[in-house]
Amino acid sequence: MKTLLPTSTAGSLPKPSWLAEPETLWSPWKLQDNELIDGKHDALRIALQEQKQAGIDIVSDGEQTRQHFVTTFIEHLSGVDFEQRKTVKIRDRYDASVPTVVGPISRPNAVFVEDAKFLRQQTDQPIKWALPGPMTMVDTLYDDHYKSREKLAWEFAKALNQEAKELEAAGVDIIQFDEPAFNVFFDEVNDWGIACLEKAIEGLNCETVVHICYGYGIKANTDWKKTLGSEWRQYEEVFPKLQQSNIDIISLECHNSSVPIELLALVQGKKIMVGAIDVATNTIETPEEVAATLRKALKYVDADKLYPCTNCGMAPLSREVARGKLNALRAGAEIVRKELAT
Ligand SMILES: [Zn+2]
Repeated sequence: MKTLLPTSTAGSLPKPSWLAEPETLWSPWKLQDNELIDGKHDALRIALQEQKQAGIDIVSDGEQTRQHFVTTFIEHLSGVDFEQRKTVKIRDRYDASVPTVVGPISRPNAVFVEDAKFLRQQTDQPIKWALPGPMTMVDTLYDDHYKSREKLAWEFAKALNQEAKELEAAGVDIIQFDEPAFNVFFDEVNDWGIACLEKAIEGLNCETVVHICYGYGIKANTDWKKTLGSEWRQYEEVFPKLQQSNIDIISLECHNSSVPIELLALVQGKKIMVGAIDVATNTIETPEEVAATLRKALKYVDADKLYPCTNCGMAPLSREVARGKLNALRAGAEIVRKELAT
């Protein structure tokens, strides 16, 4: 990446109201059949345009073609029955009715590859594509087949690896795996979570990211954050092993969070996507606030390894607020770039 402090988002952007109910997660589509296919493509074009207008350097599809960051991928796999549902606790935090793993996991067809090709046709800028991470996928299902979280995660990692290789071939520059579960199940992360992630990236030549956040700005997550105390040291548990892993980039929540920024020293040598935009509030950061977060991170991350980013996806926000936050991110990065140039 030639640009210093290249900006990007953690992934999702709000969907237009003609495609899905705004400011809602899991919002059902408003179109059907061919209209839905066209509608998703149009929304992807708009999401790209908004990132370009805001001056974002590494662009994405804004996750316009998927209903949910985990479920949409799982829906395309064999071995999971979406009719058979059980209630489980997601990330030890909230109950949800989830599908059941009933047989061997496989990926009969590509999931996002056509969408990625479409995005690639629309822009020459570097593109980043997000996939769910194996551990976070396991955590959204009831497993009645493997009866082992580790074994199930390994099977998901194999399916993710097939998808990632095809995304790379479609021209994706950076592939990101969303692993909010890494902030919760520390022993498992160290025992097998990172190994599964490395299986998912096996043989890739493009850059890879693991996104570890404290979740969208939904109530279950903001309530959980209130229980974490004044210092959020969750990252400390998994950073030493991540630092040793083959993952290139680590995407973290840093703005308005209680994460002690000095924890970044534990992943020295990795590129860091520094979350400098809070997605849990409608208040738009000032460029100076963004710059302040980036400056803090610069004490522990070399400038050529720092990628300004959002804390998490912006799907639940209004489009106006998301646009404002994209602009603030770019403007904040520009302030710090100028400081570094002098
Ligand atoms: Zn996130």
